[in-house]
Amino acid sequence: MSETLSDPAPAGRGAWNAFTFALTIFAVVFAAALLGGLSRPYGFLATFWPANALLAGLLYRNPRAWRLPASVMAFIAFVLADLAVGDPVTTAVWFTLANLAGVFTITVLLDQLDPGDATLQRPQGVLFLLIFAAVGSSVAASVGCWAVPELTAQSVAASWMSWAASELGNYLSLLPVVLSAPTLGAILRKRQFTLPPIQLYWPQLLALSASLALTLVVRDQVSIVFPILALLWCALSFSVCATAILVMLYSDFAMLALRFDLINLGVEDTSGAIMSVHLALALVAMGPIMVSSANSARNALLKQLEKIARHDALTNALTRSAFYETADQMMGLMATTGAYVGVLVLDADHFKRVNDEHGHPAGDKVLVAISAAIQAAIRQSDVFGRVGGEEFAVVLPNVGHREATAIAERVRSSVEKLAVFLDDGTVLRTTLSVGVAHASAVGTNLDQMIAVADRALYVAKGEGRNRVAFLRDEEERGHAVS
Ligand code: GH3
Ligand code: MG
Ligand code: MG
Repeated sequence: MSETLSDPAPAGRGAWNAFTFALTIFAVVFAAALLGGLSRPYGFLATFWPANALLAGLLYRNPRAWRLPASVMAFIAFVLADLAVGDPVTTAVWFTLANLAGVFTITVLLDQLDPGDATLQRPQGVLFLLIFAAVGSSVAASVGCWAVPELTAQSVAASWMSWAASELGNYLSLLPVVLSAPTLGAILRKRQFTLPPIQLYWPQLLALSASLALTLVVRDQVSIVFPILALLWCALSFSVCATAILVMLYSDFAMLALRFDLINLGVEDTSGAIMSVHLALALVAMGPIMVSSANSARNALLKQLEKIARHDALTNALTRSAFYETADQMMGLMATTGAYVGVLVLDADHFKRVNDEHGHPAGDKVLVAISAAIQAAIRQSDVFGRVGGEEFAVVLPNVGHREATAIAERVRSSVEKLAVFLDDGTVLRTTLSVGVAHASAVGTNLDQMIAVADRALYVAKGEGRNRVAFLRDEEERGHAVS
């Protein structure tokens, strides 16, 4: 996630990228400001103003070198959108300066954070965001409030309050989405985009829809917070970005429901009340975002711990137990399709001598090199584990017996070519013996296949080591292949 930020653009393409980014910013800001401008029926300020949050998020998440041209384009876009909805030029410029002052404040504050916090992958990031959005909104309000009294009957102080409150509500509902969204690069790298199975998320979405519906049925001040519990439930199972999107939809839903009198607030001054409620909801909705952030930080940690527990610290192969567990599962899966499976057992030759002559650390270095060579020679779908001190095993799903032996031979030959350099300049060379077993996954199991491969390994050792032996199923006696 954090790899998103400020990647230096390759020279030459940099100027082009900065140019396209500036044009994108122009389009986004103009469209968002126009939308915001058209949606301001009450007083002078827009209740729905997505432009500033979008701009701050996009400026923060892209290389800093692109900021200046993008900001110039944003300035033009803001002014044009304001003029398009009928504001006088001086007002348009003044309002734009206020918007940009808030945006720059938030962007510069976000720059100070660790990217993991700024992209809300850790819960404290949500707190920082809350503080930064409050500071940015105050800065914007302090610039903008002087322009409002000329156009409305509001005092400067009242203008400051309403500007700051609506700005904060807008930042809090949209900025979490922009900051936590996966980058285009990350999505493309995933290649195929698959949604998790529907049973994992439909109960939460159903609860959310039901509580939204209930809000509209009950129609009073209290009913507006009904969906918060459903959002908390969503936060426990969804990513930060998905949660932030739902939270944003909820706060915009509530705002629209108030605006079209679908919810009865029981007050005279609806426009002021809508603004306060929007801000209040945005503040309350930080709760679910924080929960999902804490949850995703915990899940990332668990994943890391699980990876550490399942992998051998020296060679990074699966540990013996993880290998048996994974390979067993794979064999079970293969048995249902009737596929053929190959199993290799690989043992370093005369490894005791390496330790005796060069010391245990040198032996470790050789083991790391052997493991890397095996991993490079097999496919990503193969299961590879360290099953003993200098003994490894590989399960090859969906292979014919020729292919299995060919893979074994490829591994053997690449280990034979290895040269391991010690600090004192000594070059160590090593070899492997490999036992191969091959069978249909239907009539066998992992233990049986390992036993057959072990016997083949014994044959390879007996015939002089540094070779591959394949023990045919039907032959109980060994038959060396190479
Ligand atoms: P063979 O060709 O018959 O397999 O001979 P070998 O010497 O490799 O076999 P043996 O089983 O006699 O010895 C295995 C050696 O591997 C002994 C042990 O010290 C060494 N070994 C096992 N685990 C490690 C390890 O993690 N690091 C190092 N450096 N050596 C290890
Ligand atoms: Mg050995
Ligand atoms: Mg051994």
